[in-house]
Order: sequence, then structure tokens, then C-alpha cells
Amino acid sequence: MSSRGEQVEASSSAQETGDVSVWDIPAGVRIKQSVGRGRGLFAESSFKPGARILRTKPIVAVNSTKNLSTFCSACHLAPGDIAIARGQRNSAITLKRCQGCRIVHYCSQGCQTGDWTFHREECRAHKRLRVEYAKFRPNARLDEDLSWIMDERFRAVGRLCWARKREMQNGRDPDWWAQIDAMESHIDRMPQQQIMELGQQIQRFRQYLSAAERDTPGLADMEEYGFGRSSDLLKLFSAFQINSFTLSSPSLSPIGVAMSPIVALCNHSCEPNAVVVFPHGGRDMDIVAIRQIATGEEILTSYIDISLPLAERQADLKERYGFICDCELCQRSRETSWVDPRWCVYDSSGGLKSFEGECSDFNDCSQSSSSVDKHFDSMIQQGRAMLNEDEAGTLDVQQALVNFRSLIPTLSQKMPSSSYPLQALLRLQALLLSPPRSTADRDLAIASLSAAFAGAEKVYPAGHPTLAVISAEWCKLVAMDSPEDTPTDILKKLKQAVIGLRKTVKLNEVGFGAGGGIVGKEMTELLKACEVELSQLA
Ligand SMILES: [Zn+2]
Ligand SMILES: [Zn+2]
Ligand SMILES: [Zn+2]
Ligand SMILES: [Zn+2]
Repeated sequence: MSSRGEQVEASSSAQETGDVSVWDIPAGVRIKQSVGRGRGLFAESSFKPGARILRTKPIVAVNSTKNLSTFCSACHLAPGDIAIARGQRNSAITLKRCQGCRIVHYCSQGCQTGDWTFHREECRAHKRLRVEYAKFRPNARLDEDLSWIMDERFRAVGRLCWARKREMQNGRDPDWWAQIDAMESHIDRMPQQQIMELGQQIQRFRQYLSAAERDTPGLADMEEYGFGRSSDLLKLFSAFQINSFTLSSPSLSPIGVAMSPIVALCNHSCEPNAVVVFPHGGRDMDIVAIRQIATGEEILTSYIDISLPLAERQADLKERYGFICDCELCQRSRETSWVDPRWCVYDSSGGLKSFEGECSDFNDCSQSSSSVDKHFDSMIQQGRAMLNEDEAGTLDVQQALVNFRSLIPTLSQKMPSSSYPLQALLRLQALLLSPPRSTADRDLAIASLSAAFAGAEKVYPAGHPTLAVISAEWCKLVAMDSPEDTPTDILKKLKQAVIGLRKTVKLNEVGFGAGGGIVGKEMTELLKACEVELSQLA
């Protein structure tokens, strides 16, 4: 995984030999090595917007710790999405906890049985970790305190190592290991300090592996796992870091981490022509074209949220993937004459100008904030802090809803809804208000999503699935009746919903590919129901 224009060092066997036979490349795409760009995935035929370029199973996918009890650990769906997928919208599905480790949950016997091959050692290791942790903290409530659970990266790499060891007992490395071995790693370029830190984490990781084997704490013998040199494990962790993807729900909420070496061949652009999505849950990951792609064109996806301004995008890419992006959007964003809809305010005549307030530019902050309203700057910082808290799961929802009532109108007076952080705050407000407890809350959420959608259209390419998801959230609220609605209101809203839903179904067909995934299915069913209701009223 790397960006266009970035020099990729040859650091893996496949690159050194130019051997691409380890990849099981589907028809329609091919791997090409181009000077100065590293490896990339190229279109062998043309793709229309919404065409699925490839579908593959992640080699590994795990939920992050905070999502272990809310999403199934095998299909990676939440109960609400499972009900839609099964066509049982009104049945209550509950996730059942694994009785061994008491951390992972499953939606069905089938999911639990299917995952057991991969969960067995993970289960045993966590059972022992729980006992160890309890020794030192006898008062801890281990079913609520999640701090003793291994983080998603350890659990994912652990699953890979155990699977490899199992297959090596048959005498040789499994075929899929060659793909992992062929992934790029940045270990050769990693600063010494980072290597030391990683080395310490690897000690912890070896204790984790060992906990699946014996009762007494110790370090796993990595040779049993096929690692001849100690640097092999460092390389694997580095490769995992830069080649893994955010595992997302069918409606694009981040829920964990997934890895597919073939999908990781796609290079990054902040103006992608394709997206990586999980339209039916985490079992399959798809690369979908979001605009027309010509034969021979490179398939480019974005590793980060492209609604973020330049400085935020660069910081995210640097931290996680270790490169600086030089795509066309980033080049344009560096030009002072260009006004980025992601980072701008209204000027005195109602037009737009680049925002010159405090910015988070991590390496080159030459902008002066003296001319900018300090109060406005602090509101932006407040909004940003709320987004971070939401991501970390520490946001106080009731307090946030109170704050939004002054924060969002103030920001909206100064900046368009495409601008950061307003767009994200509008979506968060609507999310926190759902399901609405009053007609006023419902109408506020609808207004926020309308504004968020208008802003999103300016920062996402036309076929991007984020537009489909915002539109779907809007439709669900508009289609919702309230006892305070008059018959005229109901008719008007129903007509709005039908128009919105027809558009949303199409947006889903492009953003998530044919059928539109689980969100598309939900919208198609809602459209039918609204059309029936409308025909009865009319
Ligand atoms: Zn499941
Ligand atoms: Zn378990
Ligand atoms: Zn870029
Ligand atoms: Zn700055």
C-alpha cells in the first residue's frame, strides 16, 4: 500500500524477484510495477460506476475491542443489519457470548462454529489473560473492564500466526502465507526509536501467543510459528500496519481491522476512482468503481477520510502508513489561490475564502491567526475535540447534544457545510438524535442531514458510498411518522421520502455495487413500503 509518486523500496521477496504468481488475480485487473510508484492494481478492461472490480475474503478480520459485544465476530454484522439481511426486519436478534473467553459474540450457531478454527487459541489465551489480570486486580469487573483484552492488531496478527502454525504442522507454509510474505513493509525505513517500541510490543505479543499453549506465563518459540529470524516478526507487524484496512459496517461505521494482501495492492489517492467496502458484512470485501475507469488506468482507493482538509489527511497518512500524499487534490490544496471546500469560510460578500485560522498542519504552520476571531477558532477546536471523543467512545452524548445547539448554528454562520469540522458535526448530531424522541428532534436531525449531504456532495466524488449512507439516514427519518404530524404533513413527507428513496437506491447501487449491499436492501424495502402507503393515501 502506498501513494502515487512515492518511491517504494524493494523489501519483500516478491518485489525482489518480480514474482507476481503468489497473487490470485481475478480477470479484469492486473498488477503492474511502474517506476517511482511501486506496485499497483491496473484495470484490464473498463469499469462503469458501480461495477465491482473484485471481491475477496479478508485473510483476517477482527472487531475492535469496543465492538466485540455489539458486532458478530464471524460475519461482523450488528443485529439490526442481520435482521435486514435475513429479511426479518421485525425480529429481535441477540448476539451470544462465547462461554470460553467471554469476550467475542456471535449471531448464530453457524457463525460460532465457523469461527472456532480461528478463535480456538485466541479463546484459550484470553481465558488465561483474564485469570492473570484478576490476580492483580481482584476488584476489577472483567466483563465491563475491557483493558485486559488484547487490542485488535494483536488479535488479528495472532490469528494469522496460529493459523500458520497449524498448517505448518502438515510440513509446509500455507499458500496464503506467500501473499503475506510478499506484502510491503516499511521496516527498513522505520526510525530506530519506533523499532525499539515495536520490539517491546512484540515481547508482549509472544506472551499472548504463549498463553494459548501453557498456564505459566512465558514467551512463544517463534520458530514453531515459522519465523526463523527475530526480524521476521517485526516485518510482519510493520507489513500489517501499512497493509490493513479499517473494517467497516455496511453503513461505513469503522468497527475493526481487516487485511487482504490483494486489496492492499491498490495505491492511495485522495481523489480515488474506486472504494473498498464491506456491503454485506466482513466476510467479503469488495473494490467498487465509483466513476468510469478506462482500460489501463490505475485503480486508486483512499486509505483515509477524503472529506478532511489537507493537513488532517497528511497527518493521518503519515501516522498510519508513513507516507506523504502528492495526489492531484493534495497538489491543488497546497496552492494558495485554490479555495478548498473542506477548509474555508464565508468572506464579507458571501463568497468563500480559504480559512486562515489555527490549523493542525503538523510540519509547516506559517499561517497567522491574528486576524481571525479567537472565539470562532475555539469553537472549531471544540468541535474537533468532540469528534475525537466520539471516535474514542468517550463522548458524553447528552452534553454533546446541548453543546451542538449553539456550536452548529455558530459554525454554520461562518462556514459552508462542506467545511471541516462542520460537516462531520452535522452528521454526528443527527446520529446522536436517532432514533428521535420528539418531533422537534426528528426535524432537527433531518435538517442536519440535509445540510451534511449538501456539504458532502462538494467533497466526495459523485459515486462515493458516503453520499449513499447520508442520504439513507435522511430518508429513514423523513419516512418516520410522528403523532404530531397533520395529515397534510404526512402526505408531504411521504412524497419527499419516495423521491429521496428513489435517488438513494441509485446512490447505493453505485457506492456499494449492484444491489447496494445491506443499506441498499433496506432502502429498496422502505421505498416499496412508502409507495404502498402513498398509493393508499392519494
Ligand atoms: Zn454472525
Ligand atoms: Zn472464546
Ligand atoms: Zn492526496
Ligand atoms: Zn498552520
